[in-house]
Amino acid sequence: MKLSPSLPIEKENTSLDPTDWASARCMAHQMLDSSLDYIQYVRDRPVWRAVPYDVRAVIEDEPIPKQGQPLATVCHDVINYVMPYARGNAHPRFWGWVSGEGTLGGIIGDMVSATLNVNACASTHSAAFVERTIIDWMRNLFNFPEESTGGLLVSGTSIATVISIATARQRVLVNVREDGLVNGQQLVAYVSTESHGCVVKAMELLGLGSKAVHLVPVDENFSIKIAELKTAIKDDRDKGLVPFCIVGNAGTVNTGAFDDLLELSKIARAENLWFHVDGAFGSFVILDPQRSHLVTGIDQADSLAFDFHKWLHCPYDVGCVLVRDSSLLHSTFSTNQGCLERTERGCSLDDRWFYHLGPELSRSFRALKVWFTLKEHGTVKLGQKIAENCEQAQYLVSLLEKYKNIIRIVYPVSLNIVNFRFEPEEFDKDDHELLESFNDELVVDIQMSGIALPSSSRIQNRRHIRIAIVSHRSTHEDFDIFMETLMKLYRSRVDAVVMARNGYD
Ligand SMILES: *Cc1c(COP(=O)(O)O)cnc(C)c1O
Repeated sequence: MKLSPSLPIEKENTSLDPTDWASARCMAHQMLDSSLDYIQYVRDRPVWRAVPYDVRAVIEDEPIPKQGQPLATVCHDVINYVMPYARGNAHPRFWGWVSGEGTLGGIIGDMVSATLNVNACASTHSAAFVERTIIDWMRNLFNFPEESTGGLLVSGTSIATVISIATARQRVLVNVREDGLVNGQQLVAYVSTESHGCVVKAMELLGLGSKAVHLVPVDENFSIKIAELKTAIKDDRDKGLVPFCIVGNAGTVNTGAFDDLLELSKIARAENLWFHVDGAFGSFVILDPQRSHLVTGIDQADSLAFDFHKWLHCPYDVGCVLVRDSSLLHSTFSTNQGCLERTERGCSLDDRWFYHLGPELSRSFRALKVWFTLKEHGTVKLGQKIAENCEQAQYLVSLLEKYKNIIRIVYPVSLNIVNFRFEPEEFDKDDHELLESFNDELVVDIQMSGIALPSSSRIQNRRHIRIAIVSHRSTHEDFDIFMETLMKLYRSRVDAVVMARNGYD
C-alpha cells in the first residue's frame, strides 16, 4: 500500500520510555501514593497473611510476556497481587528474625537511586563521594584509624563476611590468588557456638571448609569462653594446624549476646591472628550511651561487618565492611583490567574503583538511602530507638514473668531479643517431643493470626519462641496486644491437646 504524502508520518517511539509522559507521570504518582499508603497504614493490616492460591496462580502461571502490557495493567497487578502479601517486616509487630522495617527517607533514597541508575563501581561521580562519606562516618563512629581504613557498602553482612575472611586468608596465604589452596596449610578460624551461619558459609566458599571452623563453647551469658579459646588455639597449633582468624560477635542472632571483644583483640594480637567482628545489628549499640560499653574493643578489629538494613532501618539491602588495612583489601581484590585504569582527566580521574576492593564490578547506589537516613534522623535519635527496643524487651519480660508457672524465659535478656517457651502444667515435663511441637505450633498459630510475627529458636537444645525487636514503630501497646493474643492461642492449643489425649485414652 502506498502512503498518501499528505498523511502525517508518525514518529516511531523506539526507546522504552513512555509515549505519553503525562499519563505515565500520573501512574507513577499513583504508585508512590500506594507505597506511602502501605507505610502510613501498615499498622491496620495483618502482619502477615498467606498468599491465596489464586493469587499465586496469577503470578506463577503467566508465561513470559511476548508483547508488552499497558503500564496501568502492570501497576494494577503489583497493587493487587504483590503488595498485600509482603513478608510483613514493615509492621510494628514483626519480631521474627532480625529484620529491619524501612523508613520513608529510605523509600525516597531508593527511588532516586533507581532513577539515576548509576553503576557505583567507580570514583568521580556523586555516588562515589556519598559512599566514601558513609565509609568515613563509619570509620569515625567505630574509631578505626583514619589513615589506613578501607571499606565498601555491600548487600549485607553475609557478603561482608566473605570479603573479610578472604582478606584474612590473603594475609596468611599471600600467593593464594595465583596458587589457590595447593600449599597444604590447614587454616583454622575460631568462633563461638552462637555465631551466625554466614561465617561457616564464608569459610566453605573460600575453599577453607567448614571443618576449619573451630566452634568454641559459650558461658552462661552466651559469650565465647576465653579460656577455652586459648586452649583451642594452642591444641590446634600442636596438631600442626594454622590458626589464622578469630571472629567475635557483637550481638548474636539467638540472644543478642556480645563476646568480650577487647579480650579477643588481645588474643588475636598476641597470636598474630586476624580479628574479625560480626556486628550485623549489635555493633550499632555504639549509638546508645547506656550500651556502648558492650562493644568496647570493636575499634581493634581488623575487619568489621554490619548491616544498615537491620537496626539502622534502611530498606533492604545494604551492609558494610570496614577493613583496618585497606592495602590488604586492595591486594585481595584488585585486578589488572585495562579498561578500569586511571586517566589524568575525565571520569576515570582517580583509581579508587570500588571494583578493586571487593568481588563485584556492578554495584547499585546503596549509599544514598544510608546517607538519607543518617541525615534525616541523626545518630542521637537512631541511638534512642535502639535503647527503646532494648527497654521494650524488658517490658515484654515483665509481662511474661506474670506467668512464671507456665512460661520459662531464657536469661539473661541483655539486648533486644527475648526467648521463652511454654511448659503447660497439663503436660508431662519430660515429654520433650510434645513440648517442642507445642511451642512450634504455637508460633505458627500466632503467625497465622496476623496479630504478631515471632519466630522459633533453638537454645540449649530446646525450642523457644523468639521475639527480636528492631522496629522503630513498635510501642508498649504492641506488646500488650501480643500478650493477649499469645495467651488466648496458648489456652486453645492446650485445650485441644488435652481434649485429643482424653479422647484417645
Ligand atoms: C543478619 C545477620 C547476619 C547476616 O547478615 P545479612 O545482612 O542477612 O547477610 C550475620 N550475622 C548476624 C549476627 C546477623 O544478625
